[in-house]
Amino acid sequence: MKLIINNLCKTYDNGVKALDHLSLEINQGMFGLLGPNGAGKSTLMRTLATLQDADSGEVLLGDINVLKEPDAVKKTLGYLPQEFGVYPKVSAVEMLNYYAFLKGIAKARERKEVVTSLLNQVNLYEARNKYVSSYSGGMKQRFGIAQALLGNPQLIIVDEPTAGLDPAERIRFNNLLSEISENIIVILSTHIVDDVSDLCSEMAIIQHGRVLLTGRPSAFLDQHEGMIWAKKIEKEELEKYKAEYHVIFSHLQEGKPLIHVLADGDPGKGFKALTPGLEDIYFSTIN
Ligand code: ADP
Repeated sequence: MKLIINNLCKTYDNGVKALDHLSLEINQGMFGLLGPNGAGKSTLMRTLATLQDADSGEVLLGDINVLKEPDAVKKTLGYLPQEFGVYPKVSAVEMLNYYAFLKGIAKARERKEVVTSLLNQVNLYEARNKYVSSYSGGMKQRFGIAQALLGNPQLIIVDEPTAGLDPAERIRFNNLLSEISENIIVILSTHIVDDVSDLCSEMAIIQHGRVLLTGRPSAFLDQHEGMIWAKKIEKEELEKYKAEYHVIFSHLQEGKPLIHVLADGDPGKGFKALTPGLEDIYFSTIN
C-alpha cells in the first residue's frame, strides 16, 4: 500500500496559498512531515483525512481515490488531531467502546475484545476506568492512538503529537508510534526535528505549501558527512560569522552561541568537525 499525492493545491478564502502543487509518495512505515509553523502541514493532514477539500490535485491510497471517495478512506484511516477533544466524566473504556461502535463494530462482545486489546497495547489498561479528562498529556495522546487504531487502519495520521509532553512521556509515545507503524503507513506531522530523526525512515520538508526535500534521512545525513563544522563564539561575533561563513543555525551551549557551518573542507580558525544531524539538513533546507 502506498499513498500518492499529486499536485495538491489549496488556497484559503483570505488568499493564503497553503498547498502549492504539492506532490509526495509515501510508503509503509513512519513518514515524517517536517516544516515550520504555517508551512501547510495541518492543511495537508486534514485534506488527507478528508476533513477538508483541496482546490485541485489527486490523492491515491492504494486504489482508493481519497478526494472522491471519502467514505472509503474513513474506513481505513486513523487520525490523531493536534487537539484531541475529550468529554468530561467519561472513562477511557467507555469512550473507546463508543468510538468502536461508531467505527461499525456492532457486537458488544467483539467491541469488548477490541477495546481491551487496544488499551493493553497503549499501556492504559490499568487506567481504563479513569476519566480521560483526568489523564496526563502523554496518557491522552496514547488514548488518541488507541482510538486511531480502531478498525485496523492502513493509514494513520498524527499531527504534532509530542508538543507539550514531558521527555519520558515523549519517549514512551514515540516507542508506541514506532511499534504500530510496522505494516501500515503512519504520517507524523511535526516541527520537532528530533522526533523525525528518532522515528522516521522517510521524510519530507515542506514550506509555503511546497515540498523542498523528500527522501531518507539517512541518505541526507550521509551526503553531508564532512561538511558540518561547529564553533562556540561570543554573542557579539554572530553577525561577523554570518557574513563570512554559511551559518546553518546556531543554538546556545552553556549560554554561548554554538554555530553550525556548512563548508566543503575544514574552515580552520578553531572549527570542529561534526557528525551531521537532521537539524543541519532541516535548517539548511528551509533557510
Ligand atoms: P502548519 O500546520 O504547517 O503550521 P497550516 O496548514 O496550519 O500550517 O497553515 C498553512 C497556512 O494557511 C498558514 O499561513 C495559515 O495561517 C493558513 N491557514 C490555515 N488554516 C486557515 C484557514 N482556515 N483560513 C485561512 N488561512 C488558514
